[in-house]
Amino acid sequence: MQVNHVSLTISAVQAAQYPTDERPEVAFVGRSNVGKSSLINRLINRKSMARTSSVPGKTQTLNFYDIESLLYFVDVPGYGYAKVSKTARAKFATMIEEYLTTRQTLRGVVQLVDSRHEPSDDDISMYQYLKYYKIPVLVVATKADKIGKSKYAATTRRIQKALDFNQVDTLVLFSAETGMGQESVWQWLEQQTKE
Ligand code: GDP
Repeated sequence: MQVNHVSLTISAVQAAQYPTDERPEVAFVGRSNVGKSSLINRLINRKSMARTSSVPGKTQTLNFYDIESLLYFVDVPGYGYAKVSKTARAKFATMIEEYLTTRQTLRGVVQLVDSRHEPSDDDISMYQYLKYYKIPVLVVATKADKIGKSKYAATTRRIQKALDFNQVDTLVLFSAETGMGQESVWQWLEQQTKE
């Protein structure tokens, strides 16, 4: 998709604030620093529309981006901050769970993992959680420019094994630096959000 018009519709902290126009929606989740803002910015051809790494302790919001008045990208705050307090963590979990389990227009989730590392326990829990609720997932393995081409196949297998990957889902190796994988990500997004 050629994206020309993008705007931030709302930074929501509760369900009452979610957009109500029933456009299809895709959410982006992943550990902090995994490359989520870089992926979103690359998909919408912007340098810094989606915030770059948010600071721990900052208000955590679900950011709804209107894409061409056709669909929403929902940027979910990064999980896995070691330093966040238990209370903040619980509040965050409640917000995300409420969103993922009740949002009628949610067509799928793009879950990012770092291609260089083993998926973390948080990554594994998130993926299993999404599968429990039967939400279609695109796993995007980020920073693929940092691993050699010869490791692509093994990396894909390693991540799939760690996540106990469901074959109905798709995994794409991606690089925000080179644009590798970008078309496959858009293909999946368009497939999920078509009427
Ligand atoms: P977020 O916290 O998940 O939104 O992560 P960011 O998009 O802010 O990226 C975190 C860091 O990883 C930044 O320093 C980015 O420049 C870097 N990064 C993100 N994507 C890539 C990538 O595809 N390749 C490389 N080499 N670095 C990346």
